[in-house]
This record gives sequence, structure tokens and C-alpha cells, in this order.
Amino acid sequence: MSDVIDLAKALIACPSVTPRTVGVFNVLEDYLRPLGFVAHRMIFKEEGFEPVENIYLRLGTQSPNFCFAGHTDVVPPGDEAAWDVPPFEPQVVDGELIGRGAEDMKGAIAAFMVAVKQFLEAKGAPKGSISFLITQDEEGDAVNGTRKVLGWLKEQGEVIDHCIVGEPTNPDFLGEMVKIGRRGSISFQLAVRGKQGHAAYPDRADNPVTRMIHMLHALKSTPLDEGTEHFQPSNLEITSVDVGNPTTNIIPALATARFNVRFNDRHSAASIHQWVEERCAPFGAFELKAHITGEAFLNKDEYFEQLLVRAIREVTGSAPKLSTTGGTSDARFIKDICPVIEFGTTGRTAHHVNERVEVKTLEGLVNIYHRVLDGYFS
Ligand SMILES: [Zn+2]
Repeated sequence: MSDVIDLAKALIACPSVTPRTVGVFNVLEDYLRPLGFVAHRMIFKEEGFEPVENIYLRLGTQSPNFCFAGHTDVVPPGDEAAWDVPPFEPQVVDGELIGRGAEDMKGAIAAFMVAVKQFLEAKGAPKGSISFLITQDEEGDAVNGTRKVLGWLKEQGEVIDHCIVGEPTNPDFLGEMVKIGRRGSISFQLAVRGKQGHAAYPDRADNPVTRMIHMLHALKSTPLDEGTEHFQPSNLEITSVDVGNPTTNIIPALATARFNVRFNDRHSAASIHQWVEERCAPFGAFELKAHITGEAFLNKDEYFEQLLVRAIREVTGSAPKLSTTGGTSDARFIKDICPVIEFGTTGRTAHHVNERVEVKTLEGLVNIYHRVLDGYFS
């Protein structure tokens, strides 16, 4: 079996269900320290959240610093009896490695580790640095993970120049898709207050449900935009409408609703907030609470993008789609400090029972990462 499969198996064999490491960082250190990497482990705590251990490893002290970012935490296995092999005793069956984290994303971590080793064996020490930023808190709260590590790096004067996040970006086959940005996300809670009364005497009450319906209709009937070059149209999705009225003859005093907006690079969380307020305002008073999950972003570093695209084309023969679709990842934090692009394995079975990845996908990914390192340091 190839190096990358052995290493992926060793990572998967640690049952590192978020946020507990269960020895998974030892696998990283045991492999990377002999190559010259210096490891820093850090535990972050924040009131109300479980403490999380993270690790940052760096080879070299010069710039530029090329970073691979990812997470070793995995989601729980779910119904273990439904798995063909025990989720934390990985096995290759019919050319596929099965185990929790095979796609999301221990397979990609193993691929980058092997690529670094191959690169060093072929070229020696790079003119610059290679680093790993690995969190154990991506599948969980994402409070004590990457965001805090970035703060720590800043305190230490550590600079990252370019970053690949190894999330499973390819829907079905290796080389299909690179993520060059993400939509922003903001969630709202809308409350409309009225005056309770008898359904037969609406003139003596003030029905908040009627106003709420007008507001939600105004929000849904006006498109935010038609999409941009790299982004699909922004979308507002109503996720809940709550009145909680058990009777048929009472006009309630309060109506609430929740909705989420995924927005493209035409907007910011602040401009979306203002847009929502303007749509609701004609229909009377309301209260609005917002929670921002992330701003929209797009990689602007063409050279970095082309380096990856070329490597993918050389190894797989296909030109990847440059996409901004999907949910959020830790790239939303890293984009604040350097250009960041996401590329990893396939994502067909991430979070599923029998999560698995093709052996040839992992071997292809090693070759792609290796070529990226070659190009970056040449
Ligand atoms: Zn992931």
C-alpha cells in the first residue's frame, strides 16, 4: 500500500470526534518532525465552549510561507452497525479507503504530508517555509479553532503568505472543482409586536401576523441581485415563522420569523442588514436581530490560482470549475490574512455512513499538491 494510504489510515484510526484529539496530532508530529518541522500545540478556551487543542507546524523561517490548513476533527460515526467496516478501523475495500474522515478531511491532510516529504526528498529545503495549520474545532463550534490560531500567529509575528485549505471540494471526481471564494452568510430573527384581541373584533386589536406576512412577502419578492461573475444570485431563505397561537379566536400579540441570507460579493453583511430593514419599514414597527457567520470573499491572487489549476490539469487532464458554492469553511477566517483557495478530495460521502475515498483520488491529490509546491518554490 502507498504511503498516503498508510498515513490516512493512521489518522483515521484516531477517533478524533470533534473536539477531542485522541492522539491524532501525534501522527502529524511523528511524521513531520523528522522532516524538520517545528510544532506548536495550543489549547484555547472560551466560556461556554469546550477547550480545543490546535497545532501549527512550520519548516523553515524564511518567507514566503506556504500553509496547508485543515481540520483533524470528524463528525460522529452515527449508526456504527450500519458501517461495512468499523469507522475508526479503516480498510481499503475495492480500491476505496473506508473510515470516518476519509474525505472530510484526513485523506487530504495525509496527501499534503506525503507531498511535502516527496518535495523535500527531490528538492531539499525550500526557499521559504512550509506550514500546517490544523484545528480540532471545524466540525464543532469553530470558536476555539482556526480563528484563535490566527490570532496567536499574529502575536508571534508569524506570517502566512498563501494558504490551501484541504476541504473536500470535488463533488464527484478529483480535479472537478476548486473553491476560490464563498458567499457570505447572515441570519436574522424578526419580531413584530401587536395588540392581542378577539378575532371577531379586529378593529380593537392590532394583528402582528398580517404585518409580518407583508414584510416576509416584500423580502421574498425582491431579488437581491442576479449573480456576479463568480457567484450565484444572493438568496434569502425563510426558515421559520412562529406565532404559537393554540386558539382560533384570539389575535396574537407577537409574531416572529427567522431567515438566512447567503450573499455574494455585491454585498456585505452590513448592506444586507440595511436592505432587510428598508424592505420591512413600510409595514410598521419591527425588531430585528442579526448574526453574521461570514462575509463574502473571492481570491484575487491570479498567480496562486493558476499554479493550482495548472497542477490539477497536469495530473487529472481536466480543467477545474472555479466555484464559490457551498457552506462556510475555515477559509472565511484565513482570507483575512492571505490569499486562500480550497482544494481537496471528493466530497461524495463526507459525513455519511461508510465515508470513503478512492485510493487513486488520494494518490492523484499527492501529485497535485507536490506540483503546487514545486511551482511555488521554483
Ligand atoms: Zn471538513
